[in-house]
Amino acid sequence: MALSASDRLAAVRAAIARAAHSAGRVATDVELVAVSKTWGVEAIMPLIDAGQRSFGENRVAEAQEKWPHLRSTIPDLRLHLVGQLQSNKAAEAVALFDVIHSVDRLSLVSALAKAMKNMDKWPECFIQVNIGDEPQKGGCTIADVPALIAAARAEGLPIIGLMCVPPADTEAAPYFALLQKMAREQQVVQISMGMSSDFETAVMLGATVVRVGSALFGGRG
Ligand SMILES: *Cc1c(COP(=O)(O)O)cnc(C)c1O
Repeated sequence: MALSASDRLAAVRAAIARAAHSAGRVATDVELVAVSKTWGVEAIMPLIDAGQRSFGENRVAEAQEKWPHLRSTIPDLRLHLVGQLQSNKAAEAVALFDVIHSVDRLSLVSALAKAMKNMDKWPECFIQVNIGDEPQKGGCTIADVPALIAAARAEGLPIIGLMCVPPADTEAAPYFALLQKMAREQQVVQISMGMSSDFETAVMLGATVVRVGSALFGGRG
């Protein structure tokens, strides 16, 4: 029999707790973001009913279709933008999201800073790092991280941590360990890493935010 959404949520939460304890951490130090991209409101509601409040989307336009209505009925939702962001969508992203995981270049920093000032709304931001140095991937280079953090802070962005998506089909642990080391060096507290296939490893290596889609929704939407 197929598992229900609340069964899947309980299983992911239990796995996070086990991984956290095995690393001498506590489960409450890890925020679980349910990545609901491609899934409709009928798939999202059972997770909300089961107590999930943090959700992630990778496209601004798709999020605008789903979330404003849900938000008007469930005020304590926390919405995360986990996908690449075009500068011309910065204002819409600032208006809708509580957390932006994909700050990766100066032009985007400027666009976000302008939008935040205009709206006087300051979503928490992660610097996305292209940790595997892949040409097609978003994220700034490892070498550019310190300067980008400094520039973003100078513009007033609340930079709270680093985010990465390691290369597919390889062992993620070395990339997670590298991101944790970089976060320590840069003295940022939050580390957004780990997806359905590797969130336990990420938690053991210091993730404070995991972004889990298919393991919660039961496949691809
Ligand atoms: C889709 C996505 C996720 C979730 O991926 P799953 O493998 O479905 O858990 C996490 N992070 C980002 C940036 C994504 O685009």
